[in-house]
Amino acid sequence: MNRTFSRRRDRLLVYQTMREGKITSARRVKCSQCGEESANLEWDRDMQVCPKCGFHAPMDAYYRLSNILDPGSFQELEDKLSPADPLAFPGYPAKLAKLEEETGLKDAAVSALGKVDGRRAVFVVLDSRFLMGSMGTAVGEKVARAAEWADKKKLPLIIFSASGGARMQEGIFSLMQMAKTAAAIQRFQSRGGLYISCFTHPTTGGVTASFASLGDIMLSEPGALIGFAGPRVIEQTIKEQLPEGFQRAEYLLEHGFLDQIVPRKEWRAVLARLLALHEKGGRP
Ligand SMILES: [Zn+2]
Repeated sequence: MNRTFSRRRDRLLVYQTMREGKITSARRVKCSQCGEESANLEWDRDMQVCPKCGFHAPMDAYYRLSNILDPGSFQELEDKLSPADPLAFPGYPAKLAKLEEETGLKDAAVSALGKVDGRRAVFVVLDSRFLMGSMGTAVGEKVARAAEWADKKKLPLIIFSASGGARMQEGIFSLMQMAKTAAAIQRFQSRGGLYISCFTHPTTGGVTASFASLGDIMLSEPGALIGFAGPRVIEQTIKEQLPEGFQRAEYLLEHGFLDQIVPRKEWRAVLARLLALHEKGGRP
């Protein structure tokens, strides 16, 4: 067993123990939305949601999976897939190595096979700690392979997005991932596969403009910023003031882009229900 794998497994165990309330900490964490401080334990109890204002703080990929999957059902896919440096971008390899050391991730996405309430699905979760969850060649490849894997195994595909968009350091090769992931998802859907897209705060740029917006069912966490370009860029381009709450999940639900807003504590129950309904319906 290599070191990275055991670190990941340990992490899942730690989170499961936290969930059961066995780990305590006196550390206080300040909310980036309301500025109020709460005990670290309260943040953990509420799955990284601010106990004071309900802000859904970014959550790391393994922690999210450990809160959704049935214990013991996590099986990581493509964990050897590493990012490339096709443009020989200055400082990029060193940055990747540092982030791998800090996060235990090889890139910004984790893909896995897992069960929710006994039903199997293929998952991809983006992690914003790794270069803002940006999509380079490895992230794009993981999404595409997850869609292929889900198709081969006749399983639903569930993707949690959290991304700043395409990855600058891989230039045009990042932009190509938009077409690649969109094509892989389309092929999967055209063969009867169910794809549930789950937005988290923030999801922007090339990820919103490709696979994240292609779900058969579109869900989001409350308050998530979802968009392509930022509001300031849009205002400057169209020379109009944008409506209040523009690009927030609640606004997008009202305007038909999303099907439902799911508070963090309800993800497991909502996904379990959707998977059960899908199983009843069968596949063509
Ligand atoms: Zn807060």
